Amino acid sequence: MADSRLCNGIIGQQRACRILEATLKAGQFPPMLFTGPIGVGKRTCAIKMAQAANCEAESARPCGKCRPCRTIALLRHPDIKLIVPLPPKRKKSPTETKAEDETANVLQVAVEESQNYLLGKPQPNLDPKRKISIELVRWVRKEMAKPPIMAPHRFFIFLHAHQMTPQAANALLKTLEEPQKQTTFILTTDKPNELFDTIRSRCRLVKFSAIPAGTIQDWLVEKTDTKKEEAVLAAQISNGSPGTALRFLKDPDEFLSAPVKKFFSLPKADTKAILSTMKELQRTPLATVVSTLFFLYHQTLMTKHGLETEYARGEPAIGRKAELCGTDYLRRVMKYLSGRLEDCRMYLNRRLFLYTLLSSLRKPIK
Ligand SMILES: [Zn+2]
Repeated sequence: MADSRLCNGIIGQQRACRILEATLKAGQFPPMLFTGPIGVGKRTCAIKMAQAANCEAESARPCGKCRPCRTIALLRHPDIKLIVPLPPKRKKSPTETKAEDETANVLQVAVEESQNYLLGKPQPNLDPKRKISIELVRWVRKEMAKPPIMAPHRFFIFLHAHQMTPQAANALLKTLEEPQKQTTFILTTDKPNELFDTIRSRCRLVKFSAIPAGTIQDWLVEKTDTKKEEAVLAAQISNGSPGTALRFLKDPDEFLSAPVKKFFSLPKADTKAILSTMKELQRTPLATVVSTLFFLYHQTLMTKHGLETEYARGEPAIGRKAELCGTDYLRRVMKYLSGRLEDCRMYLNRRLFLYTLLSSLRKPIK
């Protein structure tokens, strides 16, 4: 559909975009499940789908300018709701007994929290303890009993749908079994296997994929004015997610593992140090371990070339490493780590992987 603007600005998701544009063209919106890694465009496409379905423009929808488009972008449209996992409830005090008060509280938090997920905002880090609770789904069911306030197509968009409690999932399943013409559900998740099969099978599946590092790199340079050098690094670390690349550029420290930084700062690591680092890394994803090393050695190489960054200035370990290591060695390490970044996404023996990785970096070479 040439006149749709649904996927403008979405990179590398041609297959998902084709399905969404066909759905929009047909004008019928079954429940949909968007799956794929974090930060590849699932939330953006879900919000834009709600805009496109309700846009007042004759063509090229969503126009982004009409009242529905604008209010949906701000998540202030009364019929378009974003449901996100919320922090666990406080323990009830003996005076708090009214169920209505409790529900009103949950809804208030839900509205406030959804503002963290506005179009164009980088995804906040999500605590796995947060849940989509039964109260939220009950509220959705109550809303559905009333006609939409102003939208032809009402949307409920559930982000991180796998973080639903079993009770919430059962209630949602019941809702999906009683479809309503003017109400659409979009569920997004990076862990579809943690969703109930019964929910998965009720939804039209739209798969989003990880995006090649080269594509992300070019996009960063063209659209966000990032320097080539930084774009290469952010793209490598992003794990196929433009959203992650942007977050990394904003705050590298959020992506760095503390035990890996400690290991990096050792002038020389013996077997004992390697084993104790491995122990500290028990819960850290391998990709984070490798990307932290990649980042630190990259900073070291830049420093070696006299291109010290602000980050390196604040981390004396980088300057020390630059003095201890030769340029050729640092280049070899970068190449090695770049290969490991690919490997660690595949299934392998975690302990062996870590041991080999840390052992090969145990002492600097001139
Ligand atoms: Zn519009």
